[in-house]
Amino acid sequence: ISEPIETDILIIGAGPTGLFAVFEAGLLQLKCHLIDALPQPGGQCSELYPKKPIYDIPGFPEVLAGDLVDNLMEQIKPFQPGFTLGERADTLEELEDGKFLVTTNKGTKHIASAVAIAGGLGSFEPRKPLLENLGQFEDKGVAYIIRDPEYYRGKKVIIAGGGDSALDWTIFLADLAEELTLVHRRNEFRGALDSVEKVQQLKNEGKVKLITPAEVVALKGESHLEGVQVKKTDTDEVIDLDVEEFVPLFGLSPKLGPLADWGLEIEKNAIKVNNSLDYQTNRPGVYAIGDVNTYPGKLKLILCGFHEATLMVQSAYQRIFPDKRYVLKYTTVGGVTGFDGSKK
Ligand code: FAD
Repeated sequence: ISEPIETDILIIGAGPTGLFAVFEAGLLQLKCHLIDALPQPGGQCSELYPKKPIYDIPGFPEVLAGDLVDNLMEQIKPFQPGFTLGERADTLEELEDGKFLVTTNKGTKHIASAVAIAGGLGSFEPRKPLLENLGQFEDKGVAYIIRDPEYYRGKKVIIAGGGDSALDWTIFLADLAEELTLVHRRNEFRGALDSVEKVQQLKNEGKVKLITPAEVVALKGESHLEGVQVKKTDTDEVIDLDVEEFVPLFGLSPKLGPLADWGLEIEKNAIKVNNSLDYQTNRPGVYAIGDVNTYPGKLKLILCGFHEATLMVQSAYQRIFPDKRYVLKYTTVGGVTGFDGSKK
């Protein structure tokens, strides 16, 4: 059995929030180690939409999600975080000295003075439509996640859903697909108003076919999807469409997985934290930051995760060095330039 990995702050989840926490901790000369169940860092940005542009990262008018992750990795490099990738954090125990022991599903042990859970949505479980032969076409014309939009270039595509991801991808694929249809079971969309207007505009320009209120009721094809049947739910009219790709974007059903058994207060599948102070959970020394947490007014956005990570490390510092007083410094002045992780 190998020795446990020791660090100051153990971060569960290497999504954008977990990665940025390494930077903020590094400024305070705290070491971090990250665990992620996925084989690569980046969380939702890498797994769900690496090629999609993001427009609300301060200072970046537009950045691809995958590039944001690459930049975050570059930014934290000087602090040399450790990574345990492809392993799920399964258990959390408090040791006699107040430190925490976290063990993964593969038995890797980690000891840390503070634990920051940045587990996002937990494990990714897409919500699937109830269609008889859906399984037959998975990865053969049916996908729940758009990993590479280029794959859809020149193809006949149908997207289903009424949230942000259905709208965002409709806008993005409008220029790539040969034919693009969006179906939604309601006439109203849940996504950002801006995106709804853009989709409406694409419809008017003839770039997107919009069918509402409607749902896909049957899939057709042999070894690969060749067509779908769409039923208008107001008139019961059934429309046959020749499509090669069906992308139902009904969201991800949040599954906290093992984190739900760590003795933490859970509300609506998220971990309750103290947001008036430091994003600590009901277990002192265990924090929850980013999409995984909840508090009044919570927004699941990357920039909110960055903010939470920044405040969390301040509190972790106080916990680890109760007698030291940390004085906030800016990154470009006195003492903390260079970011090589050494004491200055
Ligand atoms: P995540 O990115 O979800 O990362 C969490 C990580 O934790 C995952 O990698 C997961 O594998 C890991 N994990 C969970 N449980 C465990 C465990 N027990 N052990 C080990 N690892 C674990 N936000 C914006 O701000 N702007 C946008 O334009 C935007 N567009 C979006 C478009 C789409 C299609 C989607 C799906 C989301 C979008 N978001 C956007 C939301 C944004 O991606 C999330 O807010 C962000 O990814 C949250 O980051 P996070 O680090 O908290 O969690």
